[in-house]
Amino acid sequence: MSSYQFNKEEFKQEVTSNVKNLFRRTIAEATPKQVFQAVAYAVKDVLIDEWIATHKEYEKEDAKTLYYMSMEFLMGRALGNDIINIKARDGIREALDELGFDLNVIEDQERDYALGNGGLGRLAACFLDSLATLGYPAYGCGIRYKYGMFKQEIKDGYQIEVPDDWLRDGNPFEVRRDEYAVEVKFGGYVRTECDQYGRNHFIQENYQSVRAVPYDLPIVGYGNNVVNTLMIWDAEPINTFNLESFDKGDYQTAVEQENLAKNIVEVLYPNDNHYAGKELRLKQQYFFISASVQRAVNKFKAKHDDIHKLPEKVVFQMNDTHPTVAVPELMRILLDEEGLTWEEAWDITTKTCAYTNHTIMAEALEKWPLELFSRLLPRIYQIVEEINRRFVERIRQTYPGDEEKVRSMAIIYDGQVKMAHLAIAGSFSVNGVAQLHTEILKKKVLKDFYEMDPWKFNNKTNGITQRRFLLHGNELLASWVTDKIGDEWITDLPHIKKLALYADDEKCQQEFMNIKYQNKLRLARYIKENNGIDVDPRSIFDVQVKRLHEYKRQLLNILHVMYLYNQLKDNPEMDMVPRTFIFGAKAAAGYKIAKLTIKLINSVADVINNDKSIKGKIKVVFIEDYRVSNAEWIFAAADVSEQISTASKEASGTGNMKFMLNGALTLGTMDGANVEIVEEVGKEYAFIFGMTSDEVIAYETRGGYNPMDIFNNDQDIRRVLMQLINGYYAPNNTELFRDLYNSLLNTLSTSRADTYFNLKDFRAYAEAQKKVDQAYRDEKWWAKAAIMNVACSGKFTSDRTIQQYVDEIWHLDKVTVDMDE
Ligand SMILES: *Cc1c(COP(=O)(O)O)cnc(C)c1O
Repeated sequence: MSSYQFNKEEFKQEVTSNVKNLFRRTIAEATPKQVFQAVAYAVKDVLIDEWIATHKEYEKEDAKTLYYMSMEFLMGRALGNDIINIKARDGIREALDELGFDLNVIEDQERDYALGNGGLGRLAACFLDSLATLGYPAYGCGIRYKYGMFKQEIKDGYQIEVPDDWLRDGNPFEVRRDEYAVEVKFGGYVRTECDQYGRNHFIQENYQSVRAVPYDLPIVGYGNNVVNTLMIWDAEPINTFNLESFDKGDYQTAVEQENLAKNIVEVLYPNDNHYAGKELRLKQQYFFISASVQRAVNKFKAKHDDIHKLPEKVVFQMNDTHPTVAVPELMRILLDEEGLTWEEAWDITTKTCAYTNHTIMAEALEKWPLELFSRLLPRIYQIVEEINRRFVERIRQTYPGDEEKVRSMAIIYDGQVKMAHLAIAGSFSVNGVAQLHTEILKKKVLKDFYEMDPWKFNNKTNGITQRRFLLHGNELLASWVTDKIGDEWITDLPHIKKLALYADDEKCQQEFMNIKYQNKLRLARYIKENNGIDVDPRSIFDVQVKRLHEYKRQLLNILHVMYLYNQLKDNPEMDMVPRTFIFGAKAAAGYKIAKLTIKLINSVADVINNDKSIKGKIKVVFIEDYRVSNAEWIFAAADVSEQISTASKEASGTGNMKFMLNGALTLGTMDGANVEIVEEVGKEYAFIFGMTSDEVIAYETRGGYNPMDIFNNDQDIRRVLMQLINGYYAPNNTELFRDLYNSLLNTLSTSRADTYFNLKDFRAYAEAQKKVDQAYRDEKWWAKAAIMNVACSGKFTSDRTIQQYVDEIWHLDKVTVDMDE
């Protein structure tokens, strides 16, 4: 297979000419931002031929195609990753050098594509990378939000949300595909018409509609000429506003349709793991799902005339319940447009749709009020009612007389549509995202569904792409690994196991620690530039970066920092390895406790970082605007990976895997994929603490525990808690952190006191932290442990995850693309 041959002189020519055509400037006059645009267009020029060739090949092979449906794709930046994947990064670096520009500076001009919140959206992005690299025919289907995840600014210690106008300068990589636009209908009512054969026809009338227009983004496989597509939908008014409307008297409708189109794709909802029940959100869901399902069916029909064979050529994977309207939407098309019977349509639908569950937390489960659902999607609602009627009938047949089963499993119940139940009923596969998570689904949360259809349930432990999170994010370590064991790890991560041979080698240990040090220096410079804080690159970099959520327990981390600081104040000579506690997290805009936790972290940082008496033994840093592009640097620089969620709450986590790949040691609970990380690397090379998921669940069944027992009996904890309400970290407002204090202790509040067992796990956490301090003193041991983490990270590549989805759920065939043909 021949792959793209980079030609430096041609490339320089093209960049120079792009600068001229786009900006009427010579290359010498161009700004870095202009050069970025020029380079991006030059790269697109290369991609476009491979993109065309890939799709020709898919057509030729009539390959079965995956549609990965997701409300979120947290892509990060494209340029750096794309030029790695076409193996042209070194060449382009040289070319730019010769033109007088630094590739790193040019890459830094690109905005993140932040079309997602956190783990779920980043998983979708890693999956696309792996699908292209493995050569599987696949589309990502999503929304082209005008504003992605907000940019976070920290002012006076508080989070401020700034709109992310990511398309302001245009996106050089996207291609608008007007020819594939489709109509999506909302509201109105359904009229039933009976034809001469006694068949009912359902006609939606008096609806509003929008025109969905797809934009394609290239997803580049590593060194294989495969370029897949991320298809994101924009909304436009169906008829542009015109004078005719005034005459016809439907002025109101015209304005409403224009507003609908504008609003629908305006902004990504910034909630992670939380259902808010907003009408516009349901509109977004139906908008991109209806458009994607229509496109998939149209594409199938262009080549095939028997719609019954759809499941042989098409599979829909629903990333969480957000895309679940795909089930009734496909039913609608098969019933109303293809004229199939219910039984035929249901058979096809349930062989086409598959569902990934991402959470077991009650507050994250989507339950739409019937009133809203039926008003917005009248025809879809009728279909959901019929799905429910038949499903309930089946439950009653399976468990005669057991109405409790109906209560717990019905799709429509209590005036709500339960999306998880609909997703399970309409899918041939239901998967969890880590072993522990899948077991909890089967044994607890979805027990009844599992018992009725055990064959549907399976596990697919999440993964991450080593191309972005090692090859791109940590060049020094990537080159070192390749020097030692060759470059097979880039497309076959389990090969990295060979590094274990070097874990005991003192020279290798020193090389490794030196690379870590260089990466810490790089992050220290970033922190100085962005936060104005000096951190010591020789201190332990102890990092917790992820969305801010009570279950992830950033509060436990900062309470421990407060405790450690008290110890140092009591005993300034206390022997400890200097530690830099690094946080990065966005809080949902309406999540008060989460935002207050950010303020607390920054207040604690203010006091501690300015206290000369502790001689810099502790520093606390909150990195503003945590996102994929700065994440790549943060993982590379971490010594300690904080994965301290309340056991049973984190379905998998993927940040934990990125840290491991970069040689950080996990300090964590037995939750999510931490369990499997420890299984791979061995308990001796991680710091595991705290309650198990069984213990947490047992306490929850009993209604929680009483944190006052701890408050009354543990002086150190009591002291820390009192500092939340005595102005120690907020001299001008002693009440500032009262809500945090109450969340931990006050049983009067609506939820249980200390719902997430922060205090219950505190002592175990503090002891594990002490072990970290002790362990770091033995530099050889630490280096060995870190190298072992890298060496044992092979399981956590998303290439492995995707191959399992292909083998066990999607059944796709690999395609090869040869550019010589
Ligand atoms: C990987 C990643 C996440 C997910 O992190 P978790 O620790 O698994 O919650 C969130 N945000 C960004 C930017 C990421 O890269």
